[in-house]
Amino acid sequence: MQFHLNGFRLGDPLVAEAAQGAARIEQASLPARTDVLIVGCGPAGLTLAAQLAAFPGIATLVVDQKSGPLQLGQADGVACRTMEMFEAFGFAERVLKEAYWVNETTFWKPEDGDPSRIARSGRVQDTEDGLSEFPHVILNQARVHDFYLDVMRNSPTRLEPHYDRKLIDVTIDPALRGQAGAYPVTARFERLDAGHEGEIETVEARYAVGCDGARSTVRKSLGLELKGDSANHAWGVMDVLAVTDFPDIRFKSLIQSASEGSIVIIPREGGYLVRFYIELDKLSAGERVASRNITVDHLIAAARRILNPYELDVREVAWWSVYDIGQRLCDRFDDVSPDETGTQLPRVFIAGDACHTHSPKAGQGMNVSMQDAFNLGWKLAAVLRGQAAPQLLRTYSTERQSIAAELIGFDREWAKMLSMPARRPGDPDGVGVDPAETQRYFVQHGRYTAGTATVYSPSAITGGTNHQHLARGLPIGMRFHSAPVVRLADAKPMQLGHVARADGRWRIFAFAGAEALAGVGALCAFLESAETSPLRRFTPASADVDAVIDLCAVFQQPHTGFAPGDLPSLLLPAKGTLGLRDYEKAFCADLKGGDDIFDMRGIDREAGCIVVVRPDQYVAHVLPLGAHAELAAFFDAFMTPAA
Ligand code: FAD
Repeated sequence: MQFHLNGFRLGDPLVAEAAQGAARIEQASLPARTDVLIVGCGPAGLTLAAQLAAFPGIATLVVDQKSGPLQLGQADGVACRTMEMFEAFGFAERVLKEAYWVNETTFWKPEDGDPSRIARSGRVQDTEDGLSEFPHVILNQARVHDFYLDVMRNSPTRLEPHYDRKLIDVTIDPALRGQAGAYPVTARFERLDAGHEGEIETVEARYAVGCDGARSTVRKSLGLELKGDSANHAWGVMDVLAVTDFPDIRFKSLIQSASEGSIVIIPREGGYLVRFYIELDKLSAGERVASRNITVDHLIAAARRILNPYELDVREVAWWSVYDIGQRLCDRFDDVSPDETGTQLPRVFIAGDACHTHSPKAGQGMNVSMQDAFNLGWKLAAVLRGQAAPQLLRTYSTERQSIAAELIGFDREWAKMLSMPARRPGDPDGVGVDPAETQRYFVQHGRYTAGTATVYSPSAITGGTNHQHLARGLPIGMRFHSAPVVRLADAKPMQLGHVARADGRWRIFAFAGAEALAGVGALCAFLESAETSPLRRFTPASADVDAVIDLCAVFQQPHTGFAPGDLPSLLLPAKGTLGLRDYEKAFCADLKGGDDIFDMRGIDREAGCIVVVRPDQYVAHVLPLGAHAELAAFFDAFMTPAA
């Protein structure tokens, strides 16, 4: 990480210098106005809040009806893609240290000779080699919240949520909706804290985002509904400290019994804790699981029956719940109705469980919710900071709704499979699913569960594929797949993807061709001097040259073959109040480690290429190194020239 840019500073470099006027909030009244109102402090709300907290010029208000941060329970699966995003927020290492790593998954089915007993039928590597530099891990959702709250607290805006506020409704003033700079959204809250119960507070906002979960009030205020299966499955979940002779208790295990139901075992952080997901009965239409009076003793008894012949002695139950969330989805994730698409711009959005709900079995809910917010955060920041026209905000619903629809399709299949009894081998007409088929489906869809299968369709911010052959391993519309490099100035081996922080900036990675400096040098000259250069057009005169678009170069030649002084000046820019040189813009293939990024990501060695990466780490475009005009045209399509 980089610090001391504007002079030497004592103390923890993770704590940013406070912006003027930033102060830790007391639980005083809500402000009358804000730029962005976020309702809900779940994973979606906190991802969005952490992103917006980075921008001192943006007033963000985060509100939740709870009296404080989440302490226990809910989701726990953290997909590889989510870890990549956590790295951008600066806390992946903390998660890596604390979490359980899902290295292998085992499969259990009824024993051939005696179907009342279970027997292991398979064992697979959980995540395919090379899918991500991060593992799939398991950590309590409450800890993920804690890390985001730290990011917010340490940000320049020192952002803290306001708790004990229940949203009553949200309204949008149609007369103000199209006016730039207006505050067309009004939200009413009821205070729940002692001494203020029942008091109503009103907040006006330029934009509001409902991250308020499956029963979202924001969604209802927009007249939207979650549509999907009414035939829900009830699930029991318990986090326990237990003694057992089941041999795979420290592996993620999928157990399908012949007639007692199925269990998913998720080992948890800390070495002792284990989560059991236990399939309960299918509910009839309109029935809620709460009406069944299920207790934790029912869950333990069901787990024991399924685990036969193994023993399970539960010594402590840390948390348990029963719930009946089905696969449901909203038609759109903003307030613009289909007949207004060409004329209105969105002002209110919904994210996370507010617009899609999943079964817990594929571990999607928390991960997809955070990815929604990561997609929206930089777009709101770009519009509010005057870097992009508000039309950019239309892409949020378009991009995320179709991804959620795809994931829900996958989740539905997977949940159905796990809910079926295991079919006897050699009995194709029997009831249920062949456990070998379950294992095959799990392996085949590993990229979905890892969160790396997301592809955004072509749009103003996702280019066409004419030049994809120049970087075959970095598909346009998919997340930038990191690979090892060596930093030129100090020979540090590192991941190139980790250059991309959650700071709202675009990245241009210039992969050099066979003639190391020629094409990159010409690109730098264009970006530095041409009238049409996106760096010149979109970066404010008073800001550092990389404040909006961060240019980095990657060379295929060994790092010992260059000195920083050989680089074009744009790759060694003077920055900050002291005009210090930034030495962290040039990288070389890691020839010592043997993982050559040019081979790993299919970069054309002769020609090189430009890879444009969005602030949420998705590949926006691949262009020839010399396609200066096309590069300029790409940014011109959605960005606003700096004042
Ligand atoms: P949420 O995490 O639901 O956060 C919504 C937030 O909005 C909450 O903090 C809530 O207090 C707040 N809020 C709601 N209404 C209002 C209002 N009117 N005013 C102010 N604030 C409001 N997933 C799994 O994968 N495995 C599990 O075992 C699992 N268990 C779960 C158990 C429970 C009880 C719940 C609720 C969810 C569970 N989930 C589980 C789902 C997973 O937690 C969600 O997918 C994930 O949290 C979604 O994140 P989110 O930010 O969209 O919404």
